[in-house]
Amino acid sequence: MTTVTVRAPAKINLHLGVGPAREDGYHALATVYQAIGVYDDVTVVEADDWAVTVNVTGDLDASDVPLDDSNIAIRAGRALAAHHGLDRRARVEIAKSIPVAGGLAGGSADAAATLVALDRLWDLRTSDEDLLRIAGTLGSDVPFALIGGTAYGTGRGELVEPVADAGEWWWVVVPNTVGLSTAAVYAQYDALGLGEHLRAPEALFDALAGADPVRLAEELHNDLEPAALDLRPDLCQTRADIEAAGAHAALLSGSGPTWLALARDADHARDVAGRLGEQMGEQLGTRYPVVLCAPGPVAGAHVVTYA
Ligand code: ATP
Repeated sequence: MTTVTVRAPAKINLHLGVGPAREDGYHALATVYQAIGVYDDVTVVEADDWAVTVNVTGDLDASDVPLDDSNIAIRAGRALAAHHGLDRRARVEIAKSIPVAGGLAGGSADAAATLVALDRLWDLRTSDEDLLRIAGTLGSDVPFALIGGTAYGTGRGELVEPVADAGEWWWVVVPNTVGLSTAAVYAQYDALGLGEHLRAPEALFDALAGADPVRLAEELHNDLEPAALDLRPDLCQTRADIEAAGAHAALLSGSGPTWLALARDADHARDVAGRLGEQMGEQLGTRYPVVLCAPGPVAGAHVVTYA
């Protein structure tokens, strides 16, 4: 039986500008995405009915990931079949390394990977334009997971265009053991009345094109940070720990609670990660049991096995 495995990256937002809520309930965004080297692998195989399994690497907690039709990977598979007027189904196996509900868009990565995998399994040859459009109906971050790299996202984030990026950036990814709901952070953002006029982050584009980590550090920005910190004051400690560990900058990933530390290069990233791992919590043991080092930008969803 033929199987296809597709790898899709986590995303971070180097700039997350959030406008006021639109009439359809979504917020207008002006965001700069970057795909980083933390991946989910999605394997598909033809089956009589839709099914999904999730296996995790390491200590990841995936207990919040649904195993029924509400899993975004199944929604993606159904959307692709419907687009082509097909009544075909598949079993979708997710090997998860992207922390769940961490502001890293792991669900979106799985949806993008499923689209690419089923397109290959069923030999559909869907056009890029159609894949991006289907992706946009599944979630605002799904089109970016298809294209990867570094990209500017507008609309509600689903309209993506590549951005010139000459850097080989290194990030330290610091997940939190307690997830944070994206919807709750946006609601808090509205309650605080923070919606501002959106602008394209020109200075950030210059820093990316110039491959200068010190300049990039100055231009990283996330409008959602005050709202997330309001809901989770404990996250301030992590920012302080990242700064004390010698990173160039600390950035909240999307709606959080994952933090990102910008490092100078791979060695610096390992050094920062090591220092964070040494931070002891109130209970016995380290405050940050899982700290990852990841390069960016990396490719979007791509086939790794076709057998
Ligand atoms: P968002 O994409 O909403 O900003 P996030 O990036 O913080 O969210 P995700 O890892 O995408 O976090 O998960 C958000 C929620 O989506 C999970 O708590 C889970 O209930 C649901 N979900 C559905 N399908 C998946 C999937 N395949 N992987 C992870 N989460 C999924």
